[in-house]
Amino acid sequence: MGILKAVRGTRDLLPPETALWNRVEATARAVFSRYGFGEIRTPVFEVTELFARGVGEETDIVSKEMYTWEDRSRADSESGQSLTLRPENTAGVVRAYIEHKLADSGMLQKLFYIGPQFRRERPQRGRYRQFWQIGAEVLGPAWSGSESPLRDAEVLEMLGAFLNEVGVSNWRLEINSVGSSTDRPRYIAALREALAPVKGLMSPDNQRRAETNPLRVLDSKDPFDQEIVDKLPKIADFLDDASKEHFVQVLAALDACNVPYTVNPRLVRGLDYYTRTTFEFTVPDGSGLGTQNALLGGGRYDGLSEMLGGPKAPGIGFAVGEDRLILTLQAQEGEVAEPKLDAFIAPMGVAQNALALVLAQELRRAGLSVEIGDGNFRLKKSFEAADKLARRMVIFGEDEAASGILTVKDFSAGEQTKVPRGDLASFLKKR
Ligand code: AMP
Repeated sequence: MGILKAVRGTRDLLPPETALWNRVEATARAVFSRYGFGEIRTPVFEVTELFARGVGEETDIVSKEMYTWEDRSRADSESGQSLTLRPENTAGVVRAYIEHKLADSGMLQKLFYIGPQFRRERPQRGRYRQFWQIGAEVLGPAWSGSESPLRDAEVLEMLGAFLNEVGVSNWRLEINSVGSSTDRPRYIAALREALAPVKGLMSPDNQRRAETNPLRVLDSKDPFDQEIVDKLPKIADFLDDASKEHFVQVLAALDACNVPYTVNPRLVRGLDYYTRTTFEFTVPDGSGLGTQNALLGGGRYDGLSEMLGGPKAPGIGFAVGEDRLILTLQAQEGEVAEPKLDAFIAPMGVAQNALALVLAQELRRAGLSVEIGDGNFRLKKSFEAADKLARRMVIFGEDEAASGILTVKDFSAGEQTKVPRGDLASFLKKR
């Protein structure tokens, strides 16, 4: 029979790599909690309408990348609900914010999540169909301070701290302001006007974008179109005074806490509810990601909660591509060796098997990591297995069981020591 494999674009994460994933997630939890964030876990699937409304039907994500199915609930004949595997987590968080009336507290909500997202994209290095995001949303009624530029700067400063702490030090923060929902239509009109005479010279993709969503032309990476893109009008020239002032304050707060940034006037987000600050953290080519070099993206939004039937709840959020962060760390740090266990207990006969398990139980309760021999009972074989797995081997034969004095072999020092059972745990804890 043929072998069954993981679906294209999905992958298994195995030890020792999963230790790195756990380290990244533990660092995120530790850093985010210092900034007052609490964890939210929303379902992996939601009603399709949530994403149609909250991400937008005209986006690539919703129009062609979602995993959607009709859920036949009770009887097969009954036509079911349309459900979708979440392609991103902001819509789910805002749905939960509305559903649980989090606005009623009047407090600013700071929520983070860690979990898989699903998009039917063309798989390549750094781009998968099931991928993980570590993200957060800061939102609340306007009187909770959710619109303050201080929040934007705080989120960006936190992301810099997180990347530094996790071990990515060569990040680059690109930032821009996309203005208000009244600035953007004026800008889009100007873009259309500027694109009209030149769009015929651009790639087919950009010709299509110029029609459907001109903002998307700006973040096109097509090298042949760059000359045209560079000459297009800049959103900075279309910002109203309040948006300009907001951006100035965000940058001033970043300067004050020494967060380096580059203003990229072409950094935009295509959806209507994005307002003001948008940002991306990237790493240089050669950090293991090729051209997929955006580690994370985010921005400020207003109007999303209302689109989902909730109260006004402006906010700011981001999503870190955890797969990409891991690839970057692996490129920087090289493959990590599997950590060695504290001890390997080698029973020397069937009579010692149960006793060896009791000894392992004692040591594990004392906090040590322990493996037990495979009942092979040959000293040479046990040495070979133990040397691969553990720093030390404890020989446990008839004599040791009777006398309570155990023989411990230390692989790095090449020494053998007799240790009374009562002292074993503290002996093994020594490095
Ligand atoms: P987005 O939700 O599209 O703004 O993406 C936020 C971050 O998630 C990006 O900067 C990437 O790091 C990551 N990301 C998005 N799509 C994928 C994917 N298909 N595979 C892996 N990472 C992704």
